[in-house]
Amino acid sequence: MIRAVLAEHGLRPNKALGQNFIADRNHLERIVSVAGLHAGDGVLEIGPGIGALTRELSTRCSFVVAVEIDRGLVRALAKTCEDLDNVKIIHADILTLDLAEVLSEIQTGRAAGAAATPGDLRVVANLPYYITTPAIFRLLEHRENIESMVFLAQKEVAARLAARPGSRDYGALTVAATSAGDITLHGNVPPVAFYPRPEVTSTIVRIDTKIPSEQERRLEPLFSEIVKLAFAQRRKMLRNALSSLAEKDALEQAFRTAQLDPALRGEALSVADFRALAAAFGNLQNRQVDARL
Ligand code: SAM
Repeated sequence: MIRAVLAEHGLRPNKALGQNFIADRNHLERIVSVAGLHAGDGVLEIGPGIGALTRELSTRCSFVVAVEIDRGLVRALAKTCEDLDNVKIIHADILTLDLAEVLSEIQTGRAAGAAATPGDLRVVANLPYYITTPAIFRLLEHRENIESMVFLAQKEVAARLAARPGSRDYGALTVAATSAGDITLHGNVPPVAFYPRPEVTSTIVRIDTKIPSEQERRLEPLFSEIVKLAFAQRRKMLRNALSSLAEKDALEQAFRTAQLDPALRGEALSVADFRALAAAFGNLQNRQVDARL
């Protein structure tokens, strides 16, 4: 079926664009069931391919906006989705598209015409692996407008996203993602479920987004910098890894305020610990500014 649709439009799977199409209906249904869609929801799909997942989404929600980078597939989609009047295809790169504009279009119902009632906005995607991390982080920047995200990721990346503090997989990616949402894994999808078969196993990942508090929003740049420094050299104690942030005494003071041992390594800290550290360093910086005034 996939081969036939591609052939009809003179197309071949493009490896560079991560084109591994889902060829197994059961797995398609698993993804949709994890997404837990409601009739009024608006969905942003990334990389609809030839529209297999798009069709499933379209029957379960109010409308779907599907963003596809490949011009040939956009042509094919115009045909495979021609009977779906609640689907809008956008020919664009999800990494450069004006997301605020598209999300607002979905949220206000403009994407589906005046009759639509705006419900929750969800992201569902069989993401191409080469953009997993940048795409997730781009979307999480807009998490205030997104209820949940369900996507396929390479099994190893999924394990890093959902890792616990202290484990080998726990790192900057885990902390950044779990600070933005609750992450759950919903089982694997084997290579045989795709055409063409990828070399890796995939995992269904769900992120239920958390809306940041005013304080979290304010401390976000500092929080990100601390997380990056803490994991840049995993084996370093935090007092050394974060030494560029403050003088020795001030740094020790920040750790005391956060009630954390500066001899720990980044991998031992939870998201809440990193937040406490960001708040403590934030206070330090404010005091230094006040002292200079
Ligand atoms: N959803 C289809 C399915 O499940 O069968 C196809 C999934 S395939 C893994 C990934 C899709 O994402 C391809 O259609 C590919 O052309 C598209 N894609 C790749 N990079 C993209 C990008 N930067 N922005 C939007 N779509 C992209």
